Order: sequence, then structure tokens, then C-alpha cells
Amino acid sequence: MRKLFRNIHQLYTVSAHSRLFKAGKEMQDAGLISNAWMSIQDGNIEGVGGMDTCPSASEFQEVVECKNRIVFPGYCDSHTHIIFAATREGEFVDKIRGLSYEEIAKRGGGILNSAARLRATTEDELFDTALARAKEMIGSGTTAFEVKSGYGLSTKDELKMLKVAARLKSSLPVTIKSTFLGAHAVPPEYKGNQAGYVDLIVQEMLPAIAAEGLADFVDVFCDEGFFTPDESSRILEAAAKYGLKPKIHANELAVSGGVQVGVRHQALSVDHLERITEIEVEALKHSSTMPVALPGTSFFLRIPYTPARMILDADLPLALASDFNPGSSPSGNMNLIFSLACIQMRLLPEEALVALTLNGAYAMGIAETEGSLEPGKAGNFILTRPAQDLAVVPYYYGFGMVDQVWVRGEKFQG
Ligand SMILES: [Zn+2]
Repeated sequence: MRKLFRNIHQLYTVSAHSRLFKAGKEMQDAGLISNAWMSIQDGNIEGVGGMDTCPSASEFQEVVECKNRIVFPGYCDSHTHIIFAATREGEFVDKIRGLSYEEIAKRGGGILNSAARLRATTEDELFDTALARAKEMIGSGTTAFEVKSGYGLSTKDELKMLKVAARLKSSLPVTIKSTFLGAHAVPPEYKGNQAGYVDLIVQEMLPAIAAEGLADFVDVFCDEGFFTPDESSRILEAAAKYGLKPKIHANELAVSGGVQVGVRHQALSVDHLERITEIEVEALKHSSTMPVALPGTSFFLRIPYTPARMILDADLPLALASDFNPGSSPSGNMNLIFSLACIQMRLLPEEALVALTLNGAYAMGIAETEGSLEPGKAGNFILTRPAQDLAVVPYYYGFGMVDQVWVRGEKFQG
């Protein structure tokens, strides 16, 4: 089956010329072709070019006219927690009243609140609600995403979450990666015995998850009040024996040492980074680890934004993700992340687009097949409403310029 998309006003390929990410100044080049065509064969990109080289429509089974519209790769959301049992709007109101994330966590709110609710919820119920959230994300432009465990905090309940992730993978047309985040918080039964909980992760959870092949990656919340760099290292070393590559939550609440732990263990990504200094930037320079910013969390918690300009000016790459979760970022809408990146982090629309697509794909280990519109890669893309320039997408914040989402060459119908 061959499909032709033609008379595209602006086609942003985000081509990195077969490299797997873009860094620093390169991110200003999002591979724009004006007045373009793109063809898809059997779900993959077959070719792209200017209309002066457009193949004849007669060669195709379907022809889509894209006059006045923009086409760019689907968003690759490399950091979500969409498997959860209940929303936490009560804490949202507590925050309006002035309580901090740390204070809410100390009161038994936060992650432990989600854990208590998740333990009381069946796998089927978790699957149904996560599936609905995932479909909403795809409908708003996300064509690949990662999902973490971390609200079970017992072997049985962490396995339950990862089984839900496996069911999402087989129920949706998009690529989904699953991450074991047993070290998200210390559950109440291990209060005062954090070392005992780390033992449980290393000795029981990791072997059980590996035996069923339920996780692609491992993650640790390496931050003040959560897990130390030493505990994180121990978990990552144990996970490496099962071939699980790390992705780290680092430097959200404090300068935690998490970035250095991630780099030392060749993490695929280090995420959050709201509080980093030149020292963390220097550590990242000599690594293959992708820094990932989560501006939805900064917005929702009113904490600092990741210093994106400092990262790009150091010639580093950057990815952007939603951090969709019930406590600190209850939205999986990457269009809003696009706006926040431009407005609050001062990224140019082209830089933000690269961070939302190709670099996000790298942070999930799928940049060889997704994240840009290059021949051979998946036909995953967004077709906007009529728009004159890419900047219109983040400019109309909260408005939704996405008209159609195509996944492997098929229009997503929800
Ligand atoms: Zn997170």
C-alpha cells in the first residue's frame, strides 16, 4: 500500500542524516522542506522532497492533499507514569493552599497516596484507565511513549503495573517502552528501613521482572528525600545484569548527584534536571546520556524550569517529555509541552520540535526507526490545521493545532 501526501505547505523532517539525535546549534535545523511531498509504503516513509520532484499520483493507492498545512513527526514522549489508580485533585487544592511537594509527601500524600490506591485496584481496571489516557495522548499527537511502574512498591504490585504496560503494548499501534521504577518511593511497610527496601528491589523485584521480560529499562528516583546516589548505583548495577539500561529521575528537588550516577552507568537519559549547575553540564558533555526536561512538572508545581538554554549553549542535546502522572503533571498533551518549552524555557520552535521528536525517540532507544521523517523510518506524523508557520503550533497554547495523527501510515481514529 503506497500513499502520497502532497502540496504540504511546510514539511519538517527533523532529519539528522542518520544520526540518532541533534545537539546544540544543530537543533535549530528541523529539516524544513517548503511546498513538499512525502510518500509512505507499508507504514514506513518511502521518500520526501520538494513538489518539483513529486512522483505521479497514479502510482499511489491514496493521495492526501495538504495545502496550507504543516507536517512534522509525531511526538515521542519518553517519560510518563500513565498507569495509575486515581487522580489526586485533593493534593492539587492543598498545593493551591500553599503546601509544598515535600510537605504533601511527608503527610502520606504524593507517591505513597498513589501506591495505596494502586494496590487496591485490579489489573483490568488499571488497564482500562491507562488505555483511555494513552488514546488521548495519541489523539493529541504522541506516536511513541514510555511508561513507568513505581506505584506498586511491592513485587506483586510492580509486576501488576508492568503487566498492564505489556497489555498496552499489544493493544495500541504505537511503540511503547516500559520502565521498572520500583525505587520511586519507600513503601510504608519499609518506613525507617530504606536499605531493606533496596534489598527487596535487588533480590526479589528485579529477578521476578527479568524472568517475565516485563521491562525495557530501569529507573530510580535519585533525589533528596528519596534514593541516594549510592542506593541508586546499587540498583542500577543489579539491573545491568539483566540487561536493563537506566533512565534516572535526577535533580528535581535538589542538586542530588543523580546526573553523575546516570552518566556513570551509561543511562539512556537523565530526567527532570530543574536544578543543575555547570558541574552536571560538564558530566553530560562526555556521555551518551540524553538530558530530558519535563516543563509540565515545572508549570504544575511552580518549580524552576530546566535551564534549557544553558544545556543547548553547552552543545548538548535535550529532549522534552510530559511526565504525565497524577501528582505533579496530570497532562500528557505534548502540544502544551511545546508551548511551555518555547515560552518558559526560551527554546525556538525548531529546537523544541527536535527535542519533542527525534531526541525523545533517542531517550527511549528507538531513534533508529522513529522520531524523524526519513526513508525507512515509521510513517508517524502530525498533520496540522491550516497554519502558515511552525511557530503557530506552540503560539496557540492549549488550543490544539493538531488536525490528524498518522501512525505507521494509518490515520489514528481513537
Ligand atoms: Zn517521573
